Amino acid sequence: MRDHAVKAAFASVRRAYAAVPSGLLRLALPSRCALCGNLSQHRVCGACDTISDENKALRCPRCAATFEFAGGNAQACGACLATPPEFDATVVLAAYAEPFDALAQALKFSGQPGLGHWFAGKLAQCAHQAGVTPDLIVPVPLSAQRLALRGYNQSWEIARPLARHLHTKAASTYLRRLRDTAPQTNLADARQRRHNVRGAFATCASGLAGLHVAVVDDVMTSGATLAEIAGVLKRAGAARVTNLVALRTPSPHHSIADGGARNSARRQPNSSQP
Ligand SMILES: [Zn+2]
Ligand SMILES: [Zn+2]
Repeated sequence: MRDHAVKAAFASVRRAYAAVPSGLLRLALPSRCALCGNLSQHRVCGACDTISDENKALRCPRCAATFEFAGGNAQACGACLATPPEFDATVVLAAYAEPFDALAQALKFSGQPGLGHWFAGKLAQCAHQAGVTPDLIVPVPLSAQRLALRGYNQSWEIARPLARHLHTKAASTYLRRLRDTAPQTNLADARQRRHNVRGAFATCASGLAGLHVAVVDDVMTSGATLAEIAGVLKRAGAARVTNLVALRTPSPHHSIADGGARNSARRQPNSSQP
């Protein structure tokens, strides 16, 4: 009898807890900064929020790889000048290095899609600074199988709030991933990486003609995936394609490493999964 009363009491507390909106719970209960672990009511505390990309001035406006300006008015890095990619510009938040790589991993693999809001807020600031005003924002799509396994597309979790920040629309219906591709980091050269993603994407909606489309990705490695997507979008009529990317690994064909990554331990992106 007494057991029954205790169980009933627990059940009523559980019901009351479940009835409180999660936003209110966040306000009422202390939580921890996802970067430093200090108590914070925000996903990333105020101090960590001020950490920024120390390589911003060194990044190629087209592919966001770091490169050494040889003087003059170089508009892009040597690789982009030699073989212009299909996309027109790339804006990144920071290098794929500590401390942000842990956030990208948590967004993708730890079931924390809410971190997409934080990346979106920071990326919106970068887009404003770069004068990027897209007509439409699309995420790099996952295959149907991967989406079913993970339950969400991490790029879409960034794209949706980013569109609100930039007062434009986001849509996940324009692009489709036809198949999963081998991890780009396992492939030795640019030709293999391009071949790996060729034909992996398709547009599945009309209405792109003349638009400036921004493509959102959580981590950019070689850029071959984003180049393939930009080609698909342009063949469907897009006038301009800008990549809005949370974190950028150093491009293998560039001679200097990202400074932020050079001085700190860098986790390899777990790119065995898109
Ligand atoms: Zn912190
Ligand atoms: Zn470049």
